[in-house]
Amino acid sequence: MSQSADIVQISENIYAFIPRDPLKDYVDGNSVVIITSEGLVVVDTRTDTKSALEEITEIKKLSPLPVKYVINTHWHYDHILGNEAFKNAWPEATIIAHKNCLKQMEENVPGALDLEPGASINLINQYKAELESGIGADSLPLSEYDRIRHRQTIKDLEDFISHPIPKYIKPDLVFDSAITVYPGGLEIHISRWGNGHTIGDAMVWIPSMKILITGDNVVAPVPYSLGNYVSGQIDVLERIKMIDAETIIPGHGPVLYDKNYISNVIELFRAAELKVNDCNSKNMTVEECIKSVNFDEFKNKFVTGDESAWAFKNYFTVPVIRAIYRNELNKK
Ligand SMILES: [Zn+2]
Repeated sequence: MSQSADIVQISENIYAFIPRDPLKDYVDGNSVVIITSEGLVVVDTRTDTKSALEEITEIKKLSPLPVKYVINTHWHYDHILGNEAFKNAWPEATIIAHKNCLKQMEENVPGALDLEPGASINLINQYKAELESGIGADSLPLSEYDRIRHRQTIKDLEDFISHPIPKYIKPDLVFDSAITVYPGGLEIHISRWGNGHTIGDAMVWIPSMKILITGDNVVAPVPYSLGNYVSGQIDVLERIKMIDAETIIPGHGPVLYDKNYISNVIELFRAAELKVNDCNSKNMTVEECIKSVNFDEFKNKFVTGDESAWAFKNYFTVPVIRAIYRNELNKK
């Protein structure tokens, strides 16, 4: 058993690595391993070297064949920082991503890694100071749950900096609209469905098995709306409903075997657009809109406890308003 992730068998030759806690601060992305007679295909490489090495150990137990392709669904750290470990393990592997994903990696990842471990140390010190003073970054008292989260994040960051900082390893092969690979004769279709979670998302579709791997266009049990393109992502989600998928592997959280959750998220994003357009028609600033809007009518579908309540606010309700102001209204 992998220490940090559950290994879910999807079919005879496909396994999903699902990190256990999709709602924490230091998140780790899902990863999928597809075994073919000609080699393996891995979709996303986890959030750090430690998680990637754990997964690599498990993969070697599943098959003696090498990894032939690695697909990065988007540029975010929690999906690509294991690229180095996978390339070290299988130097011949070709890393595939959308061309915009490569562009966003180049713009963001090397610079951020250059700041490590200092950036993590600063955050650890900030959280320790907040725990000591009992006051959070928003100048409000920390709740009991905030304390639990801070302690977990400190632990995760201390663990991250106790290992060598991952090196930036970029994709070897980029595609424009789509690329199809046929390892061992298995058709794997990789394509961009428009602006969604980012401007360079790769959606991975295995038609013969009706399996769709979505990256963070789908995240359960609470969507991540961090800088996303909400109307584009609604189109992506509508397309997911149209496609003949029986198994949907999200970027974080459990594997989905029906589309009910997708429908709920579409409804939530549409409501966010209406609410924000209403704010805009009243000439409210983004901060005023954040204060005036709530999504209480959706809580029964997305919030089951302290943890999902925190994630709903911090990964959805506040960032979705900022994302719509910035990416759709072109306002800060
Ligand atoms: Zn992610």
